[in-house]
Amino acid sequence: MAKQLNCADVGFDCSAQINADTEEEVMAQAADHAKSAHGLSDSDLQEQEGAIRGAIRDV
Ligand SMILES: [Zn+2]
Repeated sequence: MAKQLNCADVGFDCSAQINADTEEEVMAQAADHAKSAHGLSDSDLQEQEGAIRGAIRDV
């Protein structure tokens, strides 16, 4: 089962969607996206990690 994350579900006004085979891969791509597109720092990401993981769905 693949994993999908819609950036908007994390609370950003953003239409980005991340698809990957595993939750860890989604998290890695989400971290890159959040840093490059939303300017999050590593500490911001740590604070948001629970919310991001909670928004990941099985597809
Ligand atoms: Zn985004």
